[in-house]
Amino acid sequence: MSQRAIYLDNNATTQVAPEVLDEMMPYFSELYGNPSSMHTFGGQVGAKLDEARQRVATGLGCEPGEIIFTACGTEGDNTAIHSALAAQPDKRHIITTKVEHPAVLNVVQKLEKKGYDVTYLGVDEKGNLDLEELRASLRPDTALVSVMYANNEVGNIFPIPEIARIVKEHGALMHTDAVQAVGKVEIDLKTLPVDFLVLSGHKLHAPKGIGALFVRRGTPFRPFMLGGHQERGRRAGTENTAGIIALGKAVELATQHIEEENTTVKALRDSLEKGLLAAIDDARINGDPDNRLPNTTNISFKYVEGEAILLLMDRLHICASSGSACTSGSLEPSHVLRAMGVPFTFAHGSIRFSLSRYTTQEDVDLVVKEMPAIITRLREISPFRGDDSELPPCTC
Ligand SMILES: *Cc1c(COP(=O)(O)O)cnc(C)c1O
Repeated sequence: MSQRAIYLDNNATTQVAPEVLDEMMPYFSELYGNPSSMHTFGGQVGAKLDEARQRVATGLGCEPGEIIFTACGTEGDNTAIHSALAAQPDKRHIITTKVEHPAVLNVVQKLEKKGYDVTYLGVDEKGNLDLEELRASLRPDTALVSVMYANNEVGNIFPIPEIARIVKEHGALMHTDAVQAVGKVEIDLKTLPVDFLVLSGHKLHAPKGIGALFVRRGTPFRPFMLGGHQERGRRAGTENTAGIIALGKAVELATQHIEEENTTVKALRDSLEKGLLAAIDDARINGDPDNRLPNTTNISFKYVEGEAILLLMDRLHICASSGSACTSGSLEPSHVLRAMGVPFTFAHGSIRFSLSRYTTQEDVDLVVKEMPAIITRLREISPFRGDDSELPPCTC
């Protein structure tokens, strides 16, 4: 067995909840039937899928028939965007933001190359959108507005109820990538006027390889995956039965734990953040401290590189993420931090800590205890200590 990690990287993926694992296990072994089969052996699996669909629908406040199971959040985002465009071939304009997940950003960038017009809404230095910019960008030929519910890197929560109302007034379709929001932000699709909403199992204590796409009844839909008649013809491919059952259970649990996320987990996050900022000079929070996911803090440590910090943290089995990636010799801060205009001397040293209901005070205390020495050590050897002007060279 590997050593237990101090796992503060829950926006990247989460551990499967024990209750979820229990629920799904039989569908890997004795209950292996195909839900489409005529016989009872397969049919009993079909009945369990119906239950899972009902659980997801209950958690989101929609009808079971409005839920399509997908392989992941990425597939949900791709499907929503392609469907919206295929159903409205005369509309060639898309609005999104500069801070979306690549599952949206890379899709619209490709569509832009194919001739679609794309407006990328900017964010201010705290990572918030300007709704006047959205209003001014909407056009009669706007097919789709795609805005994430919560940002995976800095945790900012966007005002999706308000955004959706503006978009629907203008007659465009509205999609939201809610992968980071489900289980942390109250979502009620009865009153939230979006056409599409996407979630992913492995961000909420279900396994990897399962997601769901909500498509509001009455919204025109064109399938992305063609083949068999599964998911009422809206997503072909034999169902990931164990994954779907797991997702149903995970959404049910997420609903039960949403309060805990916003009290206990939030308190742990705040304790981590306060502890680090008190112990380490020249550190700052990225994002909007008053408008964030309760489990996320993104902190920049001036003059040091995020990847070097992660390396030293890793030696202590502390897991987190950095806001920069060393690609082709240049250390580029993430597109989210760049869109926010975070100064380079800070942006390079950004670390995202993301907690979960499995995080303990001991985990937090250990990180607060170990981090100052890591940062001090790296600053001692930092080639750009004190240099606020230049873009540091890549050293990885
Ligand atoms: C993780 C994530 C995705 C992708 O989900 P997968 O299931 O990994 O494909 C999409 N959007 C956001 C905001 C995410 O955090």
